[in-house]
Amino acid sequence: MKVYCPYCKKEVGYEIEKRNVKEFKGIEINTYENVAICNECHQDLYVNEIEEKNNERIYELYREKANIISPQDIVALREKYDISQRELTAILGFGKMTINRYERGGVPTKAQSDYIKLLIDNEDKFVEKVKEAYQNGRINDKTYEKVISEELNDNISKEEIQDNIRRYLKFILNRKPDIYNGYKVLDIEKIENIISYIASKVKNLTITSLNKYLWYIDMLSFNQRSVAITGLTYQNQKFGPTIVDKKYDEISLLDDKYVREDIETENGNTTKIKSSGNYDLDKISRDEKEIIDTIIKILKDKTVTEISELSHKEEGWKKTKRFEKISFDYAMNLNIIKNK
Ligand SMILES: [Zn+2]
Repeated sequence: MKVYCPYCKKEVGYEIEKRNVKEFKGIEINTYENVAICNECHQDLYVNEIEEKNNERIYELYREKANIISPQDIVALREKYDISQRELTAILGFGKMTINRYERGGVPTKAQSDYIKLLIDNEDKFVEKVKEAYQNGRINDKTYEKVISEELNDNISKEEIQDNIRRYLKFILNRKPDIYNGYKVLDIEKIENIISYIASKVKNLTITSLNKYLWYIDMLSFNQRSVAITGLTYQNQKFGPTIVDKKYDEISLLDDKYVREDIETENGNTTKIKSSGNYDLDKISRDEKEIIDTIIKILKDKTVTEISELSHKEEGWKKTKRFEKISFDYAMNLNIIKNK
């Protein structure tokens, strides 16, 4: 085997000499390297294949000893947030192509490696870094949002979101028993079961009708027993009595026992509620179930418009102003059961 010797300025034969390598980039590795020596002038020669093998061995030892991050770990970090090599490079504030090089097997310094590892282990730190990169204009809106939305998905489970909605609803809707909640303390769990039950009996239940079902159920209950069932407060809205402050919207997002479907129609959007069938009737007393069944029987074959019109004939709607809370006093005089 002959190689070109720049000193002898010709093709020469060479021998291999083993030399100890004690450290690499400040880390003790205690290995060796092979060096080609010119047979004629005895100078060190550069032979590509030999150098590559040396580097491979040294890098591997260095990675191991210094606990350097692997290319796969870097790829995994990028895939988690769906970001490119260029985006990650920008977030970290490294020089151009750095991440590309590391992923192809290039060896980071110990400091850079430790830094990337820290960000992988500590999501808050990574997000902080992303915010900083965004503020400094190193990354754009799109990259920023990708990371932030992934972080939100990651940190909050579906159960936590549901519980947060329930807590929020309790905070907003719960009030001391009075004539506006039918002397009943709000019971979200019961409401969820009742909605699931109604939706299982009524085809094409829309959110607009659901409001009337719940109102009628509570009114009939108050009419018969001087106490409501759900503890909800209702107000006068254009299409009839409605849960106050449009909180039916949040209620419809609780999806343990039913699902909300937003459907586009010619007249705008309609929200439908479909039962998941897993309602728990143990949460509802026999009296209450009878009242619920009575209202379902009266309303189930009526259209949204018909139900709306029915509610407009009720004193509770006629005698209150728009957005005013509807007192359960009006339950004493319910049209819906008179007409039957
Ligand atoms: Zn030579």
